[in-house]
Amino acid sequence: MSELLPGDQLHSFPGGLKLRHHKQVSCQQPMARSSLPDHLYLPLVQHQGPPGKLLVSPGESVLKGQPLTTAEDDSQVPIHAPTSGTILAVDQLHPVSWPPGSRAACVVLAPDGDDRQASFEPLADTRPDAVVDHLNRLGLAGLGGAVFPTAAKLRGDWPGLHTVIINGAECEPWISCDEMLMRERTEAIISGGVILARTVGASQVVIALEDRMGTVEAKFARCLREQPPALPVKLRQVTTIYPEGGERQLIQVLTGREVPHQGLPQDLGVVCHNVATAAAVHDAVIEGKPLIERVVTVTGPGIAQPRNFIAALGTPIAHLVAQAGGYTGPITRLVLGGPMSGLALASDEIPVAKGTICILALTEDVLSRRQSEMPCINCGECVRVCPASLLPQQIFRHLAADNLAAAERLNLSACIECGCCAQVCPSHIPLVEHYRHGKHQLIVRQLDQRRAALARRRHEAREQRLVRERAERQARRAERKKRLSEPEQARDEIQAALERARRKQKP
Ligand code: SF4
Ligand code: SF4
Repeated sequence: MSELLPGDQLHSFPGGLKLRHHKQVSCQQPMARSSLPDHLYLPLVQHQGPPGKLLVSPGESVLKGQPLTTAEDDSQVPIHAPTSGTILAVDQLHPVSWPPGSRAACVVLAPDGDDRQASFEPLADTRPDAVVDHLNRLGLAGLGGAVFPTAAKLRGDWPGLHTVIINGAECEPWISCDEMLMRERTEAIISGGVILARTVGASQVVIALEDRMGTVEAKFARCLREQPPALPVKLRQVTTIYPEGGERQLIQVLTGREVPHQGLPQDLGVVCHNVATAAAVHDAVIEGKPLIERVVTVTGPGIAQPRNFIAALGTPIAHLVAQAGGYTGPITRLVLGGPMSGLALASDEIPVAKGTICILALTEDVLSRRQSEMPCINCGECVRVCPASLLPQQIFRHLAADNLAAAERLNLSACIECGCCAQVCPSHIPLVEHYRHGKHQLIVRQLDQRRAALARRRHEAREQRLVRERAERQARRAERKKRLSEPEQARDEIQAALERARRKQKP
């Protein structure tokens, strides 16, 4: 199956928006390595899934790269110490980014300044299962923002899978961390792409870039020329239209086929990973380095010297902002991610996690252009721009009426939270906030249903066990009776009769 890119032709997806980019603001300087703060706050959950089992306790010394949690299966992703130091506490209520305004358990690590490293072992065994296990052990999750466990995405038998797509189409207008990574770690991204392709049995890698990324394309082309990889690696420039970097939209652009709402990219013979994930896969397999840092864009009109930082996971956002020259003045909104799909943050105490791509500081003059919300006028603009072919205004109406089931019937969960609908809405309805809230409620409801089903199954299993044990006891008694000789049986019966008589005589 090698239907991908017949004739290398590109396609389009429905909706989308042409946006003005501001990436140059944070691309003027090369990436800088952030200094270590006094304390790192490492959320136990930094991926989509349950936390791993905690391995450390307060007072313990740890080495850089030492696991702090462990995973029992692919749904869990361990976290590791980004540097050496002492575990101070496990703060159960530290501010985290998701859900907005929430608090969650974080390991608090005080760096000792020595950066003493645990032994990083490159992976010698290249069998797919060994690679997947290794990536899970080293804490890999998708670094494009979705933080889906990488092992869960790779595991399985996908006989028709022919292409690994490496997604470098960074379409949010202010974010530049992927572009800077592609400029500075080109070889690692190619290497990671080839490892991923071999792991899933794909025969080629396609690296997707935006058509405005000429420098990056030239760098990739040069690397591929100078060091031809073991598998075919192709470069594809896609039109810069938001949100072409969304996994499903990019696949549609490259293959001309739409991933069904309930389906997976693997159903079309492809799997898609972000460029930062590919570089982290290279680091994990070739160098044995766990996922302990990531590139974060710190930008926006409210930041004095915007740039990209390589930040240790757990670094408070305020620490990064200080290294970017601090705030230019009063900040009206601090956003985690881009202006289109980002989350408003309540505080800059929130730590950098595996999914932290960008910190965007907005000021009064940008936000004052926003107007207050008005009723929907049924103009249909939101439908026109929706890249997921949804009916945003109808979903919104159902959510406003608290009718989650009706919203889900209109495929609420297929919403990619791109923000296109809210951007064009003449009534200034914050549609994405409603969808995000609705999707969160759906997840909570599904978890409740799963918990209830599990409790019911446990109860039924217990009942069945009791019935089975009772039957086994009776069978054993009958069996024993059968084995006894006649005099023994008679003695048993006499003893039983005496016992009954004694009980009767008792006052
Ligand atoms: S946020 Fe959701 S509903 Fe709105 S345009 Fe994007 S995918 Fe469509
Ligand atoms: S764009 Fe806004 S006003 Fe127009 S139909 Fe959609 S929700 Fe209603």
